[in-house]
Amino acid sequence: MLFPEDFLHYVWKFRLFERGDLRTTDGRELEIFSAGTPNSDSGPDFHTARIKIGDTMWAGNVEVHVSSSDWQRHGHTTDESYNNVILHVVYKDDTPLILPNGRHVPTLELQSRIPGDLHQRYHNLVFGNQSVIPCEATIGEVDRLTMQNWLTRVLVERLEKKSATVINALDLNRGDWEETFYQFLAANFGFKTNALPFEMLAKSLPQLTLAKHKNNALQIEALLFGQAGFLAGDFKDNYPSKLKKEYEFLRKKYQLTPIDNHLWKFMRLRPQNFPTIRLAQFAALVVHSNHLFSKVLEIKDVQALRNLFSEIQVNDYWEKHYRFDVESAPSLKNMGAASIDILLLNTLALFLFSYGRHNQLQHYINRCLKLLEHLPNEKNNIITDFANLGVKINTAFESQALLELKNNYCNYKKCLHCGVGNKILKLG
Ligand code: SF4
Repeated sequence: MLFPEDFLHYVWKFRLFERGDLRTTDGRELEIFSAGTPNSDSGPDFHTARIKIGDTMWAGNVEVHVSSSDWQRHGHTTDESYNNVILHVVYKDDTPLILPNGRHVPTLELQSRIPGDLHQRYHNLVFGNQSVIPCEATIGEVDRLTMQNWLTRVLVERLEKKSATVINALDLNRGDWEETFYQFLAANFGFKTNALPFEMLAKSLPQLTLAKHKNNALQIEALLFGQAGFLAGDFKDNYPSKLKKEYEFLRKKYQLTPIDNHLWKFMRLRPQNFPTIRLAQFAALVVHSNHLFSKVLEIKDVQALRNLFSEIQVNDYWEKHYRFDVESAPSLKNMGAASIDILLLNTLALFLFSYGRHNQLQHYINRCLKLLEHLPNEKNNIITDFANLGVKINTAFESQALLELKNNYCNYKKCLHCGVGNKILKLG
């Protein structure tokens, strides 16, 4: 069976070996008070360990290798940062370790002390047959509390990574949360297909410019459709003609340059999701929701957050149109519940977290997590696979965490660094 160094790290870190009558390879008594803190940078594997060897209490670094000769192979002999290692922990002691300064480094050999069933479980977990994830045979047996604790941890890791992009944008916007929120919300209004042109549109048309026209819906619609490049042609309908006229005036006033109209995609979209309809909805939101981010921070009730989007009314023109000058059967153009929940998940929850993290206000982070607990889980292949393995998934909290788990742990077989993997290895 394979015995990777990673596994030996794990065994040392959690002291999962027989600890009766511990001795160094030269026969001195050894007592471990602390295995140390894992070091993810260069240098020895564990820092600040506390170990008694013979009558002397040592505090310092521990290095872990499969064979003691790995010290030489890994080039530590000539690296001064390894000179103060207090203990060399090895699976097999195949050569005594003497540093260039003549010091014998005490060595602990674990070969005969690691329980065979632990090694077998590790082997089955990481190297066994699998079709979806390494622990597919056992993940369904892991208790709910362990799953919940671990999923919370990976969900926070996911949100921390995503919030880094928010904080970058916030810096570019000189600390303006409203502007940053407006840009992200716009990008998410484009959903997957039109996220880029929506984002470009928002960046080309500052929210502050729109705010100057907050009492004039036609001007806001003109600014958004004009900057999106939809008002370049001639129109037979009155509504787009009026928008065009209004935009021409505002364009000169603010020296605006519209984005390229060809960026917008209509192909393979249901008419309800056409960018023209999404723009009309976005314009209605801007008209009806001044200082939207401040409102989001204030509203604690999930349904009230949903209402911010469900109650917006687009211009009457869109009741019989999906595109300018092309009449269609009448239909409501309100945002659907599923689309609203995607916006809540991708924008509002993320901003509550980012705002809370940036300002060290835990209650906003808690509100983000609560919001995710109230939103339904996404549906995709990864989530279906976990559900088929017996993992209970009901909310976006769980599905978001599982996406992170799959993409950043399971895919790289980081089972030794995973709360689920730890539980499976210790289950016995
Ligand atoms: S990383 Fe965790 S959840 Fe993923 S396969 Fe390994 S033990 Fe299972």
